[in-house]
Amino acid sequence: MSKIQELSEMLANQIAAGEVVERPASVVKELVENAIDANSSQIDIYIEEAGLRKIQVIDNGDGIDNDDVLSAFKRHATSKIHSRDDLFRIRTLGFRGEALPSIASVSEMTLETSTGEGEGSFVRLAGGKVLEHKPNALRKGTKITVENLFYNTPARLKYVKSLQTELANVGDIINRLAMSHPQIAFRLVHDGNKMLSTTGNGDIKQAIAGIYGVGTAKKMLPIEQEDLDFKISGYVSLPELTRASRNYLSIIINGRYIRNYLLNKAIVEGYGSKLMVGRFPLAVIKIDMDPLLVDVNVHPTKQEVRLSKEQELMTLIASAIQEALSEQQLIPNAASNL
Ligand code: ADP
Ligand code: MG
Repeated sequence: MSKIQELSEMLANQIAAGEVVERPASVVKELVENAIDANSSQIDIYIEEAGLRKIQVIDNGDGIDNDDVLSAFKRHATSKIHSRDDLFRIRTLGFRGEALPSIASVSEMTLETSTGEGEGSFVRLAGGKVLEHKPNALRKGTKITVENLFYNTPARLKYVKSLQTELANVGDIINRLAMSHPQIAFRLVHDGNKMLSTTGNGDIKQAIAGIYGVGTAKKMLPIEQEDLDFKISGYVSLPELTRASRNYLSIIINGRYIRNYLLNKAIVEGYGSKLMVGRFPLAVIKIDMDPLLVDVNVHPTKQEVRLSKEQELMTLIASAIQEALSEQQLIPNAASNL
């Protein structure tokens, strides 16, 4: 027998899961991103024991055709890109076709879905193996239930932190996704308790109120600025409202929440000397730009991106904030209307 052999699909999926599915929050992220890509206007997330026992995501989006439903669990199978050109103009959150097969390979999963036309489907899998596939009646949309995450990968299960930490991570991901998509109504319920809900009326400030509370939202100033390459909008906190970490800085590029050290720095720079050392503002900065200027295909979780014209963007962010803060000194009540 030859020494070098191709991995079985199942093993390859488990290996990919090591990158995409680090913890319960990564499952939540991938499932909710799929729901967003499916044009949902309402996404409900139910979790139990911080997601380790159960994660259920219910959306009212496009659904999956019965003929397509098993393909969704194949590796590198996606409806979102088809050609090399598409890869450079990505408008959806997903495109790698890895999440469903990866998550399915390390959990017990059921998927119920309907496009609203013809028969819907029900699929049940364990450890990536399809155990059942049958027709199913459901209103238009998709309901995915992930149970007993990492039941077959004990090493990964050990790596998971305390329930409290995992829950905080899930909350954090939903916060960012909800702020990135104020036109979608989100609801997060943990062990029967509602943790968050947003109205989905399209207003970022309302979404901030749903997430950080009305009092906080009232202390956020609108920003707006554009040049030939970038259009910036969003909200930043008054200098009096700060936190001890950068965790409350959210940068959203073309609808995708990303992490970027330099852009965080630009936000802080926009405040000049108005912040105390070691304190950081809250900010939700939405950047719209030509997808050609941003490479999202850097890391499997797609939270790190490579930006062309990064310096230009930094300057624009800092100046948008500077401007909003100096106007605020002239019109002190600009922030409070909600
Ligand atoms: P990707 O999102 O990168 O395409 P996934 O593995 O996350 O890959 O999903 C595979 C495919 O399954 C998607 O391309 C999409 O067609 C379909 N899909 C997954 N989740 C949903 C959903 N909630 N609603 C509609 N279609 C979905
Ligand atoms: Mg996806």
